[in-house]
Amino acid sequence: MTATTLFAETALLAEGWARDVLFEIAADGSLAAVTPNAAKDGRAKSAPRAAGPVLPGMPNLHSHAFQRAMAGLTERSGGEEDSFWTWREVMYGFVGKIRPDQLEAIAAQLYVEMLKAGYTAVGEFHYLHHDPEGRPYADPAEMSERAFAAAAETGIGLTHLPVLYGFGGFGGTPAGQGQRRFLHELDDYLILLGTLMTRHEGDPQIRVGIAPHSLRAVTPELLADAVTGLDALDSTAPIHIHIAEQTKEVEDCLAWSGQRPVEWLLDHMQIGPRWCLVHATHMTETETTRLAQSGAVAGLCPTTEANLGDGLFPARDYLRQGGVFGIGSDSHISVSPGEELRWLEYGQRLFHRRRNLLVDGSGSVGATLYRLALAGGATALGRDVGRLAPGARADLVVLDADNPILLGRTGDALLDAYIFAGNVNPIREVMVGGRWVVEGSRHIAEDAVRERFRKTTAELTA
Ligand SMILES: [Zn+2]
Repeated sequence: MTATTLFAETALLAEGWARDVLFEIAADGSLAAVTPNAAKDGRAKSAPRAAGPVLPGMPNLHSHAFQRAMAGLTERSGGEEDSFWTWREVMYGFVGKIRPDQLEAIAAQLYVEMLKAGYTAVGEFHYLHHDPEGRPYADPAEMSERAFAAAAETGIGLTHLPVLYGFGGFGGTPAGQGQRRFLHELDDYLILLGTLMTRHEGDPQIRVGIAPHSLRAVTPELLADAVTGLDALDSTAPIHIHIAEQTKEVEDCLAWSGQRPVEWLLDHMQIGPRWCLVHATHMTETETTRLAQSGAVAGLCPTTEANLGDGLFPARDYLRQGGVFGIGSDSHISVSPGEELRWLEYGQRLFHRRRNLLVDGSGSVGATLYRLALAGGATALGRDVGRLAPGARADLVVLDADNPILLGRTGDALLDAYIFAGNVNPIREVMVGGRWVVEGSRHIAEDAVRERFRKTTAELTA
């Protein structure tokens, strides 16, 4: 159902918490007006009332949708040497099988879960392009279009980031068999990009950017040419890249170039707010300072980074220097903004043996993390989301005022409770682009989507 107005007794606006807020929503799904202290306004009296406090929906800046179907399958020990790299082999085995309709079914299920958890936009870092033999489909954009279809069906906002994957390792090492569904020559890649931009032009729910997979998968020339090619199509579109996730990647990059991955990128590309450096786990103090000063977004995925044994991002030092970050659920071992933010803070507490480390002048860790992740996530996705203000998308979540963890809490204390005490999801309603997609904690299409997902998981694990 599409809304035209909403009245909230309390809402987190761009300038802070406000009371008696009237939201007016334009036909294109953006916010036309946001008026605090509107209790006596005649329009507020006739507007539907939110069932609890209203927050901006959270952008999820890093997703590989198909991996949701393998969540939980890689938690069995294969011996002492289990690592990111052995996990990747399992993932490649899984990847070899997925058909287009199965990808759509998995993505739809994932996006339903994201919306129910309070993520209202996603950055889909999409690298499953070709058929299992590595040949393009009849429509080379087939697999991308399946992600678009899942987003349209479920209502989540989508920043689609087709992955450019050219090589298997640093210095242009040939790709392996497990990577053949990912590979592109630059020309074909730019045709795919242009096709997707043209087909989805003017859709306010959509943005298209690029994702050079990593410094392992592109050479310096290919990376530079891809950015030039993107600029010719859209000179402000986002650019995402995996970087410095694993210590082996740092060692290999040093052996190849004499520089560490983040250092290399900062020295060789024009890194700014348009860039999202996903993970950036392993940085020296100098790299941390330089990345913070660049204005680029660090794309942090704490539950996946923990699950894969990546390491800890230097979040305290990065935030103290004004570094920008957003969160992603990446492998989807967890689909919960609260859990990502909680583990971002907990990792720092365990490492530094102190409490309340990621905090600004508000004094509230929960509010600091939520606000920063909104702003950084919106920047990374290249869409006007993550804020409740005129012109921005009408993407919002309504907390369940009756949830025991929220009782007696107001203002920033609501966010502290949501993030640190919220193992039970406290989100009741979700609106994306002015359309209610979660009502009474149920997604409007969840039964049909789950049945398709049930069939798909049975096929993939048979
Ligand atoms: Zn990733």
